[in-house]
Amino acid sequence: MLVVRVQVICVLRLAKRVPDPLQDSLLSANNANQFMLVHFLPIPRHKTISSWSQGSSVTSVLTPRRSHAVPTFTPFQYIAFQGFLQSSLSTTLSIKSHIHGRLTYMSNGRFAGKGVVVTGGASGIGKACVERFLKEGAMVAIVDVSEVNGKKAIAELRRKGLSKARLIVGDVTSSRDVKRIVKEAKAWLGRIDVLFNNAGILVMGTIEHVSEKDFDRIMAVNVKGVFLMSKEVIPVMLKQKKGVIVNNASCSGLVGDRNQIAYNTSKGAVVLMTKCLALDYCRKNIRVNCVCPGEIDTPMFRQEAQSLNKPIEEYRKELCKVHPIGRIGSPEEVANTVAFLASEDASFITGTALSVDGGITCE
Ligand code: NAD
Repeated sequence: MLVVRVQVICVLRLAKRVPDPLQDSLLSANNANQFMLVHFLPIPRHKTISSWSQGSSVTSVLTPRRSHAVPTFTPFQYIAFQGFLQSSLSTTLSIKSHIHGRLTYMSNGRFAGKGVVVTGGASGIGKACVERFLKEGAMVAIVDVSEVNGKKAIAELRRKGLSKARLIVGDVTSSRDVKRIVKEAKAWLGRIDVLFNNAGILVMGTIEHVSEKDFDRIMAVNVKGVFLMSKEVIPVMLKQKKGVIVNNASCSGLVGDRNQIAYNTSKGAVVLMTKCLALDYCRKNIRVNCVCPGEIDTPMFRQEAQSLNKPIEEYRKELCKVHPIGRIGSPEEVANTVAFLASEDASFITGTALSVDGGITCE
């Protein structure tokens, strides 16, 4: 017989005085903007802790070796008890996590306990992906050439209660930097389950206007960067006998665009590098895919408008018309797709170039 049949979600404010870094772990463990969500489930009379904590993020850890029979609670007693259990559990886990420096904090997201590396994670699509991975339980190494933007991103994430991200400043075009980046990321994360090769730049112009230097630079960041990062990370994944790489290509890697000779050439290369890597490593339990976004509202989009000497809003309207869906995309919409490809939900997908483009490549 059920004592309570209603389902209530109680939001408990976390004690702000918990000292850092314990507070970090408490906050990130729950991924809920400084709030701890406690699910209040129907409580069967005389059931055990393990059986009625199902569905809460503490289920797996709470399940005691020896089950304790518990008395029937009123709803408010239950909420208080559950809150107490969660906070003591989080504290214990965070201490453990700091002792081992590893992925021991709790979460029930798709990336719980996973180590993720995101290049170009300080801005735009990369930053949205970092947030998404963190919210789904991962620890994330943000790799970016911009220390200033990287620090800003980390601070912004911390304000949202997402603290399991670390900045590694480096340039993906330098093999020396990349070796150091991967070494540092591996040391901090313990393992690298997901690599999102996202760092990229845009150079606009026809062949008459793009200089050799600009061409070399865009190929170095957009293509060589993916090559070098994958080259260093794949041996780590081979040792783990598992891994996922997602590359950020573009709809410009699937079709031609006017005035973008260098950019489209680089993104076309990313699409084919993705397919080659997928073939080479699919029997080694490493999946490799890429996303092909249409126009996305990021600093790169604003840079595009600027280089065409167009006011942002005018350019936005123009591009909204060009996309069959009638608008441009958000970084979060790309993050949804990246997280899908990186997750077990996409376990049979490798070598694909998945368009996230509001239909722009249909025509
Ligand atoms: P963005 O400029 O906001 O972010 C790019 C990030 O990459 C920046 O933080 C930058 O510092 C970093 N970066 C640049 N060069 C680097 C290097 N050498 N080493 C390490 N980090 C470096 O741009 P965004 O729009 O978020 O673009 C992210 C990716 O998405 C790019 O590969 C871009 O080509 C691709 N993309 C963007 C759009 C779009 O419309 N914004 C569309 C399709 C694909």
